[in-house]
Amino acid sequence: PDPALRPEPLPEDEGHALRPQTLDAFTGQAEARANLKVFIESARMRGKAMDHALFHGPPGLGKTTLAQIVARELGVNFRMTSGPVLARAGDLAAILTNLEARDVLFIDEIHRLNPVVEEVLYPALEDFELDLVIGEGPAARTVRIELQPFTLVGATTRLGLLTTPLRDRFGIPVRLQFYTVDELDAIVARGARLMGIEADPGGTREIATRARGTPRIAGRLLRRVVDFALVEGDGRLTRELADRALTRLGVDGLGLDGADRRYLRLIAEHYQGGPVGIETLSAALSESRDALEEVIEPYLLQQGLIQRTPRGRMLASGAWRHLGLEPPRPAGD
Ligand code: ADP
Repeated sequence: PDPALRPEPLPEDEGHALRPQTLDAFTGQAEARANLKVFIESARMRGKAMDHALFHGPPGLGKTTLAQIVARELGVNFRMTSGPVLARAGDLAAILTNLEARDVLFIDEIHRLNPVVEEVLYPALEDFELDLVIGEGPAARTVRIELQPFTLVGATTRLGLLTTPLRDRFGIPVRLQFYTVDELDAIVARGARLMGIEADPGGTREIATRARGTPRIAGRLLRRVVDFALVEGDGRLTRELADRALTRLGVDGLGLDGADRRYLRLIAEHYQGGPVGIETLSAALSESRDALEEVIEPYLLQQGLIQRTPRGRMLASGAWRHLGLEPPRPAGD
């Protein structure tokens, strides 16, 4: 599958021009935003670090962006790292001891923290203290280091993989939702404005409809469509041009790409619509189970194209229709 169509980050997303900088400029996630506004305001009024927050949801929905906004609105520094990068307890200790009072530390992919590092994190989160073991063998001793009070913002695509003790230490759990077409339309229109591109309402809407509920994908599709508009059109983003460009990129009317359709087709054509186990799908598609569960399935589930049952995945009737196939008749007919 074309990585440009998937929601995981790519170097081209690093241009920060499109990232909203304030809570008010952040489109969508109304409930999360309203709650965060209160917690930020309260922390500011009390002059304390905001409680630790856990952002969870599929990739590309704005977890990192929101964490940066929280830091900016709190008026504190933003430090960023990720679970897999923190290999040793010392790596985390180095970051924690350098935090200033009330800073935001963002740990992406927090479900991938090394258990040893996670142990070090607990007292840091609860009491702003660090217990470090210095030396080895009989000479080893523990030193306690006081930390500045700080806010941890953890992000994860897999809430279920977090250990319970870690989960319990977040006072503010925030679940990010897929965006509505209207919200994505606003994001695409804003992006086009920032790129200096003239866009018809039908053009931005076409991209929004086909962006898999995901701002990161909306931003990418916009950049691709603008390429087509400049080279093959008159530079204006119209509905017709967006449709043509997206179809050429393999993005269908629902926003599904080749990998999504392969997934659906496999269940339809080889397993009569399921149920079929995730491991079987993973092997047949040569995709990791994680990629299926984190990236492909959440949107298909949200769209009601598949169902998860105890015996495996099943196609819903909409998926058969979308593939242009006849669902098998129920047994006994
Ligand atoms: P995550 O951390 O959940 O994977 P990011 O915060 O990195 O997602 O966001 C992915 C991309 O989508 C970024 O380029 C960001 O600018 C854009 N984005 C995310 N949420 C919004 C939003 N609400 N409005 C506008 N752009 C957004």
